[in-house]
Amino acid sequence: MNTIKTRKRILITGGAGFLGSHLCERLLNEGNDVLCVDNFFTGSKDNILHLLDNPHFELMRHDVTFPLYVEVDEIYNLACPASPIHYQFDPVQTTKTSVHGAINMLGLAKRVKAKIFQASTSEVYGDPLVHPQKEDYWGHVNPVGIRSCYDEGKRCAETLFFDYYRQHQLKIKVARIFNTYGPRMHPNDGRVVSNFIVQALQNQPITVYGQGQQTRSFCYADDLIDGFIRLMNSADEITGPINLGNPGEFTILELAEKVIALTGSASQIVFKPLPSDDPLQRQPDIGLATEKLGWKPSISLQEGLVKTIQYFDNLLKRS
Ligand code: NAD
Ligand code: UDP
Ligand code: UDP
Repeated sequence: MNTIKTRKRILITGGAGFLGSHLCERLLNEGNDVLCVDNFFTGSKDNILHLLDNPHFELMRHDVTFPLYVEVDEIYNLACPASPIHYQFDPVQTTKTSVHGAINMLGLAKRVKAKIFQASTSEVYGDPLVHPQKEDYWGHVNPVGIRSCYDEGKRCAETLFFDYYRQHQLKIKVARIFNTYGPRMHPNDGRVVSNFIVQALQNQPITVYGQGQQTRSFCYADDLIDGFIRLMNSADEITGPINLGNPGEFTILELAEKVIALTGSASQIVFKPLPSDDPLQRQPDIGLATEKLGWKPSISLQEGLVKTIQYFDNLLKRS
């Protein structure tokens, strides 16, 4: 009897980013070989420095808009800037990353018969007209606005995944990720959780956009990564799209107040103009993930914020 566990060879694109670095770590801990591919646009070697000595970890600087020829068993396609200021910095490159990146990774998956996971997003629902959002909602997306490079790029990537599934019988797994936060978020990426924590720790004004009545649902990174792995390991007929996120919904003003309370900050809240196309409400319906994957988040916003504040506190003290 062969009792030796064969290591899976797993490719993670965007592996040096916030979520990618947590995923690299987790898959290495589970006894796999991990190939991390990243062009370091928003990711950083600092996020994976602690993995570089691991002989089962390999790092490759590469842009997924170009073809990639490697031999792997599974692909997690995460490469894409995720925060509005980053994806709006070079919107053409953002669309190319989602669309050409998906084509290349799907072509690779087809050639080596690998299972492939796509990090899609709640942004495919746009500014939703139904609440909470279920997977069968087709979305309300502006095709020509400043968020479109991201939203439409991700929608087109989903289309490609499902066409490769139907046309070439690929094994696909599409996750629609809702706002996620945690250690290794980029301190300057403009996302609300990192912004508020950094502002609070520095006793700077907390910048609430609009009146702060818009809502988001925040999932802690470890919970989300658990969902990724459950989805990847699920039965082949479970293709998604499947929502992954924490249904706890908060207004942005509530988030600001929580961060101030947890940091004991002297910061005041200031109100700034609301960016265009900013969705008013967002909350996942995770019934499908719970039914099909037995998954639901277990870390509360309070708990997750405490860990994230700790991370940023250490980071700011070091810099
Ligand atoms: P991130 O910006 O920290 O990570 C993205 C990574 O992709 C970075 O390391 C970046 O350098 C890399 N990258 C970008 N363009 C690339 C290219 N052309 N070739 C190779 N690498 C490239 O963002 P994140 O929050 O870790 O997001 C990871 C994925 O999850 C993204 O696809 C994002 O759209 C998706 N997602 C994240 C959230 C969230 O709340 N964090 C929500 C929905 C979806
Ligand atoms: N591709 C890749 N690595 C591979 C195989 C394919 O990067 O191992 C890219 C290649 O650039 C190709 C794209 O994936 O254009 C789509 O591949 P597919 O086989 O679906 O289509 P092709 O364009 O080759 O007909
Ligand atoms: N936001 C805010 N202040 C900030 C950063 C963001 O009020 O300093 C708001 C933003 O307008 C949005 C919400 O917080 O309504 C979430 O923004 P983020 O960029 O984190 O994610 P997304 O809009 O992509 O969900």
